[in-house]
Amino acid sequence: MNNHHLPRSGQPIVFRNGTVVTMDASKQVHRNTDVLVIGEEIAEMGPALEVPEGTFEVDAAGGIVMPGMVDTHRHMWQTAMRGYGADWTLTQYFVWYYLEHGKSFRPEDIAVGNLLSAWDALDAGVTTSVDWSHGLSTLDHAEAALDALESSGGRFVFAPGNIFAGPWEWSTSTDFKNFVGRRNKRTDMLKFQLAFDVTGDPAFPEKAAFEAARDLDLAVTTHAGVWGASNDDGIRLMYENGFMTPETVYVHAATLSSDSYQRIAATGGSVSLSTESEQSCGQGYPPSWALRQHNIPVSLSIDTSVWFSSDLFTAMRTTLGADRSYEHMKAHEKGDTVTHSALRAEKVVEWATRGGAAALGLDHAVGSIEKGKKADIVLLKNDFSPTSFPMINPCGHIALQAGRGDVQTVLVNGRVVKHNHRLVGVDLEAMRAKVASTVEHLQSVLGEEAWIKGMNPDIPETKILDNPYTYTDYRSSSTRGH
Ligand SMILES: [Zn+2]
Repeated sequence: MNNHHLPRSGQPIVFRNGTVVTMDASKQVHRNTDVLVIGEEIAEMGPALEVPEGTFEVDAAGGIVMPGMVDTHRHMWQTAMRGYGADWTLTQYFVWYYLEHGKSFRPEDIAVGNLLSAWDALDAGVTTSVDWSHGLSTLDHAEAALDALESSGGRFVFAPGNIFAGPWEWSTSTDFKNFVGRRNKRTDMLKFQLAFDVTGDPAFPEKAAFEAARDLDLAVTTHAGVWGASNDDGIRLMYENGFMTPETVYVHAATLSSDSYQRIAATGGSVSLSTESEQSCGQGYPPSWALRQHNIPVSLSIDTSVWFSSDLFTAMRTTLGADRSYEHMKAHEKGDTVTHSALRAEKVVEWATRGGAAALGLDHAVGSIEKGKKADIVLLKNDFSPTSFPMINPCGHIALQAGRGDVQTVLVNGRVVKHNHRLVGVDLEAMRAKVASTVEHLQSVLGEEAWIKGMNPDIPETKILDNPYTYTDYRSSSTRGH
């Protein structure tokens, strides 16, 4: 065993004697099994594999070998503000970012947030992330965001938005289209989506943005079913205009009618649940129960580190908890008792892995541990932790026992990005200084009073319900100014 070293570039890697949670179509789990990686791919899986001479060995005994996790909605640019909004609701978020301070982020601030977030993800075993990048005010910001992602070693879907302009403006500009044409690699390592929201304005100004997405052959990711900000009207307009496609990702989808869920189901789209966010912000009750009823595919996401945990372990356990709370609460209202949990640990592990891969059109490449797939692999193993054993129920262990400290080794596309609990090739001290300088910049722009007030919200005098990011004057009965 040479666990204290790292494999050379191109050296085959074998995980020995792990419990392999494959998340393949039949959810097979194999005990005492080896996984061999050659180049970018999973070459073989089985007990006591014979491996090429010089293969780098990782002792996975007592640990879980699982697919790299997939986060389908993460505002990575906000990560330099980690924890600042711990006591916010959506109202404070909208005001702070969209009405007041989002415009103070320079390209270097976006870049530093993105890179910190990318490392954060990899450290927690999240190998694919959607960067829902709506803090961009210029294409320089977009270039900086993307450069940061590409330098990190992770797998990404870059979903540009814009903090100033309406989606019908930025998405249709020639400069933007050229940017996409130049930088969208259309590979399994980097692809694009377009990120914008639909207000429900009957004039449907977002139509041009959907057409731009279609022209650019990009999927749309959209915050839908957000209390006070986006509702059934947005879904209906998308449906009536033929913009609900299997590639569309509906983020949150919390406050929607059965009719909207049926439209999502019928058109084959999927929902990205950010349960920790929905529980705190007020988009609506985390809707996993409704998505299950309507048979809508689900993926998980962390949303933003300005409030929330940046790992999918937390997403899995909050989702299980919220779903089960809902079932018990509804049953008790009728005097009934829930005797069997409908949502199982295995299902949330599926949502965190192959569910995310399917949502992003990457399921041919990642999301499960199978021969021939790209080697995005996470080893959960912590020999220093009393919580690491006994490991009787592997999916139960992942969903409710494990944490980022247990992520021992991470591979992306066959390359080691974390080993022996440490990220590879990162300079955390240099990053700490860069993040500090972004925080200092924002603090000085805001001034001390606004900075402290922003972190300690009082009851607002004005009710901001709808999302100012959508940049339309349209107001419905459920939005502001009514
Ligand atoms: Zn979001």
